[in-house]
Amino acid sequence: MAQFPAEVRISVPGARIVDGACRIVVRLRTGDDVEEILQRCGDRLAWIEIGQDDLNDVAMLESLHGQRLRIYTDSAFPIEPGPTARVLRNTRPVFAVKPLAGLLRTVNVLASIRFRVHIDASGSEVDAEALRKVTDFFLYNPVLASPIEPLATLLAHVARRAGHTLWETELERTNDAYLDEQDRVTAGRRWADDGQFYGSLEEGWQALAASPLAERLRGKRRILLRERNACTVCRHLDLCRGYLKAVDPDAECTPWQGCFAQLKAAAHRARGIEDGVS
Ligand code: SF4
Repeated sequence: MAQFPAEVRISVPGARIVDGACRIVVRLRTGDDVEEILQRCGDRLAWIEIGQDDLNDVAMLESLHGQRLRIYTDSAFPIEPGPTARVLRNTRPVFAVKPLAGLLRTVNVLASIRFRVHIDASGSEVDAEALRKVTDFFLYNPVLASPIEPLATLLAHVARRAGHTLWETELERTNDAYLDEQDRVTAGRRWADDGQFYGSLEEGWQALAASPLAERLRGKRRILLRERNACTVCRHLDLCRGYLKAVDPDAECTPWQGCFAQLKAAAHRARGIEDGVS
């Protein structure tokens, strides 16, 4: 198998190790040997991904001591104060939650016990009202101590031109890759779900990065933007760069556009206040 270079970060199922200096994201599966995975990845491990059900396995969580974790959940109450929460505090967890009805309650639960939250923008289902309420919660809750992503990063981008868009926050940078169970490589989970791939792992990164899909995604998605007329006239191109319509040109992005508008309005007000006191 050809070596993958250090600038690549690839998400792999379970103990599948990719050769080279690339960083590795492990999607842990039931029955995987955590100790062996940690040993084999060494300092190439970027983080480990688990699901809601894995939170019932306290022994497994204990074996992840000190690791960065990304926990995918669709539960309204992903975790309560107690043994699991205590064990998780020995790791560095982020809960990835879907922007569906009940989002505010979920975010509130997690934030109240000081766990970090990431609202997953890669899915097609979005509850606009739920997203609006959480954006308000993020912007105006004075006791919020944990960052809510991608809102915090996008707000920083609006306020300070920090240079991050949804492509970066949703882990689809040019050098991010995703390996599926059949050894096919693509840009991320949603591309795999849609059946769009760069090619097969054994082709090596150079060939994969030269594939038609990778070419389309490179160059800061210029080709994609040309293909998506709505994006070229969108007021939120600076934050999204066509990410929401990249896989499906008919994807509905109005709910996220509402969220972007809230973030921009808040940044605009803050700038007005700063100007007023300077
Ligand atoms: S919000 Fe929608 S229309 Fe605007 S850039 Fe993103 S995908 Fe395109």
